[in-house]
Parts: sequence; structure tokens; C-alpha cells
Amino acid sequence: MQHPTVLIPGDGIGPEVSSATCRILEAAGAPLSWQVHHAGLAALEHGEKDVLPQSTMDAIVQHGIALKGPCTTPVGGGFSSINVALRKKLNLYGAVRPVRSHPGVKTRYQGVDLVVIRENTEGLYAGIENEVTAGVVTSLKVATELACTRIADFAFRYAIDRGRKKVTVFHKANIMKLSDGLMIRCAKKVHDERYPQVQYEELIIDAACMKLVQDPTRFDVIMMENLYGDVLSDLCAGLVGGLGVVPGANIGDHHAVFEAVHGSAPDIAGKGLANPLALTMSAVMLLNHIAQTRGDASCKTAADRIRSAYSQALEAGEFTRDLGGTLSTDAFADAVIRRLN
Ligand code: NAD
Repeated sequence: MQHPTVLIPGDGIGPEVSSATCRILEAAGAPLSWQVHHAGLAALEHGEKDVLPQSTMDAIVQHGIALKGPCTTPVGGGFSSINVALRKKLNLYGAVRPVRSHPGVKTRYQGVDLVVIRENTEGLYAGIENEVTAGVVTSLKVATELACTRIADFAFRYAIDRGRKKVTVFHKANIMKLSDGLMIRCAKKVHDERYPQVQYEELIIDAACMKLVQDPTRFDVIMMENLYGDVLSDLCAGLVGGLGVVPGANIGDHHAVFEAVHGSAPDIAGKGLANPLALTMSAVMLLNHIAQTRGDASCKTAADRIRSAYSQALEAGEFTRDLGGTLSTDAFADAVIRRLN
């Protein structure tokens, strides 16, 4: 059985890393049939009128799952982020970003194995900005009991499903007493009432950042609101080798979109330099998600094969430039494919 899966190649390095990832998936026998749709600047280049075409949204709703490359967002003006819009429109409220050390990839830290859970629908990314008067602007930070409770429940359930022991909530409730205050109150309530078996910890985010760079191995699942989660995801990527090795998933009750943490990397786009591993790892998460939600064991088999193959490739020192190697995007994909068994 083939699972129809939406593929959004995206902008910048997106098409390069998507095509390398699709080659790896095909070689691993992943039972996916691609439904290619566009978003971002790529949508306009493909003749669409909108950066987030309705046909792309409809396809994700129809098939329930998508693998998405990064989409460019103009800085300081222009259109709003389609990445944020897509997550909000589909109510993909839980971002999951597993961050772990890889054998063979030398970094300052060893043994890092944590998961960033980011609330994806509100906070400062509610997009409510106003120019009150010339030279004075406001950005409204939104926190609702519903979304705070929902993401806390998601984080604890995730911890239990994966055999993880502790959830740490990062916050700034000493300053944002109402919004971040609501987040920690909801998290504590969800913990105390539903998941007392999981350890629960609250840390003020500035001190939490210091602790993260001092000893990231003390963390297990870390949960936070939207903007903090965005920033902390990249910080955590830096602990294990960079954005080339950190995958992600945006999960809702009905749909899931899998995408790497990295962006469209315009500085290296079109040069064959991008590391396709983060998107490949996101595809492994997608396969495991299908195995779990639809009971298709062949997806788990393909996911395990790919994970084992890329781990072997890394251990053998097969690196793209971001990890200190010389391989091109396609050469790294070939190195993974050679190790599939
Ligand atoms: P970025 O993640 O694109 O790049 C940051 C740095 O990491 C760059 O030096 C880049 O070359 C490097 N890098 C990123 N991915 C890499 C990979 N796979 N292999 C090797 N090196 C990699 O962040 P940015 O430059 O701040 O943002 C560029 C654009 O991407 C912006 O328009 C931003 O809005 C967008 N963006 C999109 C998403 C998304 O689609 N989910 C996420 C983040 C940023």
C-alpha cells in the first residue's frame, strides 16, 4: 500500500534537499506516493497567484501528511510567513524538534538527546502588530488557556509515548506574568492532574539558556511558547552540529507537516552544498508517524533502514560542508543509499 503524501519542495535549498531526500526514501522502499504542491516564492514561480495556494492546503487536508521544504519570508516587510500561516490554518499546534548528538559528528558536547516542543499557533507569532502612532509600534503576545493546556498535554503525552522522564517548561513569567504565567499554570495543572509520573520542572528562560550551554545533557523534553521555541530550536541545533542535522514535525489533531528546522539558506542555495540530512530525518519522523497512526509496519521498517544508513554514513565521516566535510548534497544522499540494507 502506498501512502499519498504531499511534497512541498519549497524555496532556496528546498528543492535540492527534497530531491536528495526523495531518492533516499525511494531506495529504502518507503511506501509513499508523492503529490507535489508548491508554497512560498516557488508557488509564484510555478504560476500560482498566492504564496500559500489553496490547492496546497486542500491537498494536505485531503492526505493528512506532508513533507515540506523551507519557505523564504521577507525580512521587515513583504508578505507574512507562510510557514507560520500554514501551521495556524491547519492547527498544527505542536512542533516537535528532536536534537541529539550523532556518532562521528564532533561538537563541543556528547550525549545530547533532548526534544524541543514548541507551541505553534500563538504567542508573539499571532501576527497582531500595530503602528499606534508614528514611531510607536506594538506586537501583541497572545496566550490562551486552551492552547497552553493543549501544548502541555501534547508534551507530556509525547514524553510518555517515548519513555522520556522529564518535561522542563521555559518561560519568562517573572516579567510576562499574565501570558507566560498562564503557560506555566496550565502546564503545572496538566502535569499534576494527568501526568504526575513524569518529572516536571520550570525554568526562567535566560537561566535555562545558560544551563543548556553548560550541560545540555541535563535536559529531556523542553516545552515553550512559540517565539522561545523558534529561537531555542536553532540554539539546540548548534549543540549537536548545526541546522543540517535537526529535523522537525508540526503536529495537529488531524494533519501533520514534517519539515527541517532550517530555512531556505539563500547563502548556499543552488550550489549543491546543503545538507539533506535534516529533511531526511524529518521524513523518517513522517514514516514513524504513519506507522504509529495507520499501523503500517513497512513504514517503520523503511524508517529504521534510513536511520541506520545515515548513522553509518556519519560514523564513516561522510560529511557535507556544514559538518566539516566535502560532500555535495547528492553525494551525501548516495553515501546513505549505499548503506541501506
Ligand atoms: P537558515 O536556516 O536558512 O540558514 C541559517 C544558516 O544555516 C545559513 O548559513 C545556512 O547556509 C545554514 N544552513 C541552513 N540549513 C542548512 C543545511 N541544510 N545544510 C547546510 N547549511 C545549512 O536561516 P536564515 O538564513 O535566517 O533564513 C533564510 C530564510 O529561510 C528566511 O527567509 C527565513 O524566513 C526562512 N526560514 C524558513 C523556515 C521554514 O520554512 N520552516 C525556517 C527558518 C527560516
